[in-house]
Amino acid sequence: MVPEEEIQEISIQIPKTDKPRLVIIGGGFAGLRLIKKLANENLQVVVLDRHNYHTFQPLLYQVATAGLEPGSIAGPLRKFMEEKEDYHFRLAKVTKINPEKKTVSTPVGDLSYDYLVIACGSKTNYFGKDKEFKDALPIKQIPQALNLRSHILQNFEKAVNTKDTYELQSLLNIVIVGGGPTGVEVAGAFGELKDHVLPKDYPELNFKQMNIYLVEGLPHLLNGMSKTASRKAHKYLKDFNVNILLNTMVDSYNGKTVRLSSGEELPSQTLIWAAGVTGNIIPGLPDDCIEKSQYIVDEFNQVKGFDDVFAVGDIALMKTKKNPKGFPMLAPVAIQQGENLADNIKAIINGSKKLSPFRYTNKGYMATVGRNRAVVDMPNGLSFGGFSAWTAWMFVHLLYLIGFRNKLVVLNNWIWNYFTYDKGIRLIIRPFDKQEKRKQQEAEL
Ligand SMILES: Cc1cc2nc3c(=O)[nH]c(=O)nc-3n(C[C@H](O)[C@H](O)[C@H](O)COP(=O)(O)OP(=O)(O)OC[C@H]3O[C@@H](n4cnc5c(N)ncnc54)[C@H](O)[C@@H]3O)c2cc1C
Repeated sequence: MVPEEEIQEISIQIPKTDKPRLVIIGGGFAGLRLIKKLANENLQVVVLDRHNYHTFQPLLYQVATAGLEPGSIAGPLRKFMEEKEDYHFRLAKVTKINPEKKTVSTPVGDLSYDYLVIACGSKTNYFGKDKEFKDALPIKQIPQALNLRSHILQNFEKAVNTKDTYELQSLLNIVIVGGGPTGVEVAGAFGELKDHVLPKDYPELNFKQMNIYLVEGLPHLLNGMSKTASRKAHKYLKDFNVNILLNTMVDSYNGKTVRLSSGEELPSQTLIWAAGVTGNIIPGLPDDCIEKSQYIVDEFNQVKGFDDVFAVGDIALMKTKKNPKGFPMLAPVAIQQGENLADNIKAIINGSKKLSPFRYTNKGYMATVGRNRAVVDMPNGLSFGGFSAWTAWMFVHLLYLIGFRNKLVVLNNWIWNYFTYDKGIRLIIRPFDKQEKRKQQEAEL
């Protein structure tokens, strides 16, 4: 308990200090790297996050498809602050930044800062059609992945009692929007469930009737990766009988029927939105430092027009000669920017004017498509697929996963799933509720 006299008169109660206060919004990949690297500096560090945990988003799709428990891809943020002096965490969603007062506002009160790092990531992009796709299921946060898992299982439970042909078809069909890495990985995981797991659980159903559709607006999958990777991923998904619809957009969705730009209509009560993300801007900073829903930053991650406000990771738009459109929204970019900014913040508080510009080390790109298959584009231009790519994919994901316990749990699950073909987490723990999901979605917007 902090003694009353040591608490400042601000709504979020943080002990008084003579040190400069650094407030970090978001404990994602970028925020976490800052938390780790700034320990023992002459700073008070306050981390604000709307969740009390860090999420390893690259494995969210495995939670959604019953491959992993949510706890194995998350880490409690307070744990990362243990034994760090003058580190504080508050569970709070920042709703406004007030640069003139140097404070941030949250539903539990305001908090002042000397330095502010915005590391609040991105949110699902419905390309301005949020209302039209209110019944689509996004896959950006753990609660959303759990929604998807429950929803699919609930649909199969309904399907066994359904005689109406259209209703039955709509309960079985799964439509995935977006043929990027997430869409491809989700489609592969459902292909595997359909082939190996669901027929054993639901012998009453004819899984030949179940169709998985992957809808992509461009002429190929995995835009941003090599042609080889795109071609291989296409073939792997075809082997799972995934229906790949290229050059096709999803026009509308009423919860039961998906209407495509080709005029075709697909009966489906499951529309998974993996069509992309956009910056998660917090109101308050002037419009001229925002472009395409990201904060414009210089090569030191300093937000345009401010020397005490920084943005890192998905929310930062850093245009350089080599990357005139900015860096891709990827975990390695966020981690490396967090790392570089931590060094620069140390330099600033130690009175040095010499800051290091951010230099990105490309670690390559990868996506997995069910068991034994993945595609990898190496930084040197080499591309490969198949089993070796799949083992590389597993190794990299285990390496980056937060915490030794999580690595062990995930590895155990993968080994078990591999040898038994049994994704053991087909549990409806918290039934999916459409109304509840809409509320969550509105909260994210
Ligand atoms: C499904 C999926 C799969 C992906 N797969 C890969 C992959 O395979 N490889 C790869 O490199 N990248 C992948 N990415 C992208 C990668 O996860 C992001 O680039 C990375 O998470 C960005 O890190 P960040 O720190 O900027 O933001 P995040 O990691 O998103 O962290 C943002 C944090 O801010 C918090 N927050 C947000 N708004 C507020 C607010 N207003 N107030 C307080 N807290 C807030 C959030 O709760 C979160 O903890 C994937 C993303 C998704 C969604």
